[in-house]
Amino acid sequence: MEKYDYLIVGAGLFGATFAYRAKQAGKKCMVIDRRAHLGGNVYCEEVEGIHVHKYGAHIFHTSDKKVWDFVNSVVEFNRYTNSPVANYKGKLYNLPFNMNTFYQMWGVLTPDEAKAKIEEQKSEAVAKLNGREPANLEEQALTLVGKDIYERLIKGYTEKQWGRSCTELPAFIIRRLPVRLVFDNNYFNDKYQGIPVGGYNKLIEGLLEGVETRVNVDFIEERKKSNSQFSILNCQFDKIVYSGPIDEYFDYRLGKLNWRTVSFETEVMDKPNFQGNAVVNYTEREVPYTRIIEHKHFEMFGQAVYDTPKTVISKEYSTEYKEGMEPYYPVNDDRNNALADAYRGLAEKEERVIFGGRLAEYKYYDMAPIIARALELRV
Ligand SMILES: Cc1cc2nc3c(=O)[nH]c(=O)nc-3n(C[C@H](O)[C@H](O)[C@H](O)COP(=O)(O)OP(=O)(O)OC[C@H]3O[C@@H](n4cnc5c(N)ncnc54)[C@H](O)[C@@H]3O)c2cc1C
Repeated sequence: MEKYDYLIVGAGLFGATFAYRAKQAGKKCMVIDRRAHLGGNVYCEEVEGIHVHKYGAHIFHTSDKKVWDFVNSVVEFNRYTNSPVANYKGKLYNLPFNMNTFYQMWGVLTPDEAKAKIEEQKSEAVAKLNGREPANLEEQALTLVGKDIYERLIKGYTEKQWGRSCTELPAFIIRRLPVRLVFDNNYFNDKYQGIPVGGYNKLIEGLLEGVETRVNVDFIEERKKSNSQFSILNCQFDKIVYSGPIDEYFDYRLGKLNWRTVSFETEVMDKPNFQGNAVVNYTEREVPYTRIIEHKHFEMFGQAVYDTPKTVISKEYSTEYKEGMEPYYPVNDDRNNALADAYRGLAEKEERVIFGGRLAEYKYYDMAPIIARALELRV
């Protein structure tokens, strides 16, 4: 039986980063994934020469210099800057809320004019509350940004995301709604952002170069065939790094964790440029999807957009999670938080298993913090 230091379950960013470091430290690793490809949720499919973000649009952003230097040591990043646009009943507004948005909304030309307008609308909302605290998300948002921004840019989008009316959603979901009194459409406040040159698959390939990988291999299925999960696939493993769902690892013995999900409708269009931007949010309730992603704009700029004759778009729909769907976002309500804590308690007792990543920790992480987690671990 061949011997390995690590069996790494899951070839997403967590598993791949861990594998990269373990390989550098001279450890022998095998990475398995039950999907037919490596990369986890950052995997891109090539369609008509365009990298399509199969599991949702991914934009790398961070202020953590260590993580930024690390990923750039593996692959170069381009200059993509996320600057989404909102479409409300056929009128376009820049996001996040900034001077461009306020000009489009009210025709105001200066920060003072914009501020006065927002303050006037906020005061109206506060006056209506008559001294009481906002009782739901709608009231909260109205007191934070006023009626026009709320009705055109927040209400419908939020209702589609949550599948409920804003008056039925709790106020705490929106704690802050930052407004910028400058002309700046850069969505993120982070110091660094971009997309790997050549796509995310290049990042994953770089991380996993020289590491043994196997796809279409399900750890849960394999361990059923053996007495010990440390000796599967005719190999012997000293430790396991597990980045799959934590409840599944324990055979759901305490119950199933719930997730929220998104579904995508992807189509190829016979034109080079459909919407002129990677991300367009549809903020009215009546349009069923929340966003349209036009994938080529993540990596093609200027003339390059027209040098590729077709384009690929994905419409995103917020969807209630059902068995068999992709688990995307943890549901952080009391039941699920308590259940996840109980599973974490079980995980602590598994001495030769390292649990990490969004599924094993039952926690939403952006890509950079996931990489930071994998960089912190002792290999
Ligand atoms: C819709 C969406 C959009 C996002 N957009 C952004 C963004 O713009 N910017 C950003 O920074 N972050 C974004 N993220 C977050 C990002 O996707 C995560 O940070 C990252 O994917 C986490 O990596 P991971 O390795 O933990 O998990 P994953 O990428 O999910 O990898 C886990 C892997 O484990 C495999 N696996 C599970 N169980 C088993 C098993 N039993 N046997 C074998 N393999 C198994 C799975 O098949 C999967 O490939 C987004 C997330 C979602 C859901």
